[in-house]
Amino acid sequence: MVATVYFTDTRAPVAEVSEWYQPHLSAVSRLDELIAKSGILDDVERGESVALKVHFGERGVTKQLRSVFMRKVAELVKARGGDPFFTETCGLGMSRATNFATGRIRVAEENGYTHQTLGAPIIIADGIKGLDFVKVEVDGIQLKEVYVARAIADCDRLICLTHFKGHLTGSFGGSLKNIGVGCTAKPSKYDIHLKDYPQIDSSRCNHCDECVKICPSDAIEDYAIDTRRCIRCGGCIGICREDAVIVEWTKPAELDTRLVDCAKAVMDLVGRDKFTFFNFLLDITPHCDCHPYSDNPIVPDLGILASRDIVAIDKASLDLVTAATALPESMANGIEGDKFRGIFPETDSGVQIDAGERLGLGNREYAIVEVHAKKMKK
Ligand code: SF4
Ligand code: SF4
Repeated sequence: MVATVYFTDTRAPVAEVSEWYQPHLSAVSRLDELIAKSGILDDVERGESVALKVHFGERGVTKQLRSVFMRKVAELVKARGGDPFFTETCGLGMSRATNFATGRIRVAEENGYTHQTLGAPIIIADGIKGLDFVKVEVDGIQLKEVYVARAIADCDRLICLTHFKGHLTGSFGGSLKNIGVGCTAKPSKYDIHLKDYPQIDSSRCNHCDECVKICPSDAIEDYAIDTRRCIRCGGCIGICREDAVIVEWTKPAELDTRLVDCAKAVMDLVGRDKFTFFNFLLDITPHCDCHPYSDNPIVPDLGILASRDIVAIDKASLDLVTAATALPESMANGIEGDKFRGIFPETDSGVQIDAGERLGLGNREYAIVEVHAKKMKK
């Protein structure tokens, strides 16, 4: 069966050249209209705890998803009787601010996201250190167990709000990544990015004890890691200044496959029919918002997509970016076709889509239903 993807095209303004006050041209008005005409939030029920999964970004980003879009969705969930909260998880590691819930919230505030701007509370889903999770078994392509962030496991419904953009090792960051990486706790983030437990290279170790102090599970004794106690937080890797902690990073195709395995576990746990996805094709930067900066967008703003199908919405987003003209003064300058593969030649934007379809998460075949901007009465 072909999946439905609703789309509002922000490239198609219906402006009156001589008129000043035209609120229907706002992308927030387009989002409002997209939701109303698609009916995509109509099944939100009174009293439901609704997780609005977002990415608040690393300190330094400037082109992340604006809070006004998030606030609009929260308003509409509340209007339907739902009880929304904005949620995000801690990053892998134990030394940067965004590795902890407190730092995540501080950086979110710096980036413009607060209860006041968003219209709903912020809850960091995997606890203070990113280690509060529900462990679930999954029949994934590579992974067999996934650590789902506790607040995600506890919610009644999840609305995924994704800034669609490129990704250094994943090719692109869409809804699959927002669920697979963004809704899991540190051990799963570790399993997505790294192949095995860390080891200490005694020839490089200067016995500074920084990793010993930071390890949350006392797994480092006599400058060796006890894998029975290591909980895969990634702390020792980031803290060591001597490159003495040896790890093997996953290759791009492995990373993509594993994040989709994690997305399957999250969706199976919460319930496949409880998910709605929005991809915002605005400020499409080459890098993910986990980088501490935002480069020039690679194509013009394209619009906003909404779907109940996680594979279809990411495939439709990829196809729109592929068809768009690359912007000069951007990393995609001169690239025709698949911009992400052109910028990151070691990645393959098809891997996430293939894995998502193989695991039964959705359908790559989709039909776009376009919602057109309509002039509002003053
Ligand atoms: S942080 Fe690095 S150098 Fe220091 S004790 Fe640990 S492994 Fe050795
Ligand atoms: S040994 Fe394991 S638990 Fe300890 S800091 Fe390193 S990754 Fe984390």
